[in-house]
Amino acid sequence: MAIQAVTVLGSTGSIGVNTLDVLAQHPDRFSVYALGANRQVAKLFEQCLTYKPRYAVMCDATAAVELQGLLRDAKSTTEVLAGEQGLVDVASSSEVDTVMAAIVGAAGLASTMAAVTQGKRVLLANKESLVMSGRLLTEAVRSHDAQLLPIDSEHNAIFQCLPAGFTNLKDAGIRRVLLTGSGGPFRQTPLAELASKTPDQACAHPNWSMGRKISVDSATMMNKGLEFIEACWLFNAQPDDIEIVVHPQSIVHSMVEYADGSVLAQMGMPDMRTPIANCLGWPERIESAVEPLNFHQLGALEFSAPDYERFPALKLSIQAMKSGGSYPIALNAANEVAVEAFLAERIGYLGISAAIENVLQAWQSSEPDSLEAVKAADKIARQMALVQVQSAEHKRCK
Ligand code: NAD
Ligand code: MG
Repeated sequence: MAIQAVTVLGSTGSIGVNTLDVLAQHPDRFSVYALGANRQVAKLFEQCLTYKPRYAVMCDATAAVELQGLLRDAKSTTEVLAGEQGLVDVASSSEVDTVMAAIVGAAGLASTMAAVTQGKRVLLANKESLVMSGRLLTEAVRSHDAQLLPIDSEHNAIFQCLPAGFTNLKDAGIRRVLLTGSGGPFRQTPLAELASKTPDQACAHPNWSMGRKISVDSATMMNKGLEFIEACWLFNAQPDDIEIVVHPQSIVHSMVEYADGSVLAQMGMPDMRTPIANCLGWPERIESAVEPLNFHQLGALEFSAPDYERFPALKLSIQAMKSGGSYPIALNAANEVAVEAFLAERIGYLGISAAIENVLQAWQSSEPDSLEAVKAADKIARQMALVQVQSAEHKRCK
């Protein structure tokens, strides 16, 4: 078996670290070709010493210079690249087989697209890139014969419940896709208390340990909204084919219902090393070191309908997907700006969905036909969201 060369983008983040953990369990299968991150010099330096990649990329130019100095002093042979172009280069190099796309947010778009257009096996954690450019990215997967394997636990679960050779829901005899979500830390919080929730409270997810942006997205259920859009693109589905189900225990990671009434579910511990190992090994099954589910201790599994009043971001996402065009780009951009402002304590928790809603209401949609058009729409939506943030901040200070 030939050893697969893997590039891990977003290696210093939660998914990146879990990916390196699984890769390290299989030195006979995988080698680490490149690591990429934003500006966490110390962490990337430490990863370079452990995993000895050929290249290390820091998006931030100053951080790249710093890393280069540290690696030189440590007599490491890892070469340092900088900027988005560096990320694109290590995602598309002819020496790479597999790319883990685990950068958070729109920042992951260019490198994900670069890997796809070079026909790589792309392990997609960076859902934002699919939300922004679903049509372009899935078309590129087909025309460049790339493989797009879903790391997001729900999509990975659905992927595992689909028949081999799947092309679309109808031909596979599928009635519905059931996308599960825990409901996050505020599922039962009295609505009147939501306004005063802090970033730390929003990031305290009951089941998963994740980066701060996706943790806030889980609290607002914008994460499920983005995943709804992600699922439409990944599984060639219409919005009405997908139903969101709240499942607080995060044991069932999603389900597929077939025409005969059978429902297939994928279950497991809430540990991202399962979907990561599933995609790295696919179509084979490989070890992940994830603890087995203990059915004797599991207790009750609950399921319920989502509460759209509590989670307005969910409704906005479904609407954005139904409206199509560049609405999902505006949704994602406004969310990124608003979440960043919330994490910096510039706006309150409820300000997040308010900002997104206002941006979407004023949005003039188009059908972006290139990566440049996607980036341009993203930029406009960010500017509009920033105005919303400033006005919310102003009202708050009064
Ligand atoms: P994180 O915040 O822990 O890590 C983000 C990573 O992206 C870091 O390595 C950071 O350096 C890098 N990054 C940020 N901006 C960058 C830039 N401009 N250029 C290069 N690198 C940059 O986030 P995470 O929780 O690991 O999530 C990563 C992605 O995976 C997100 O899209 C998230 O939605 C998705 N995802 C995460 C989980 C999870 O359990 N953490 C589950 C499903 C999907
Ligand atoms: Mg998920």
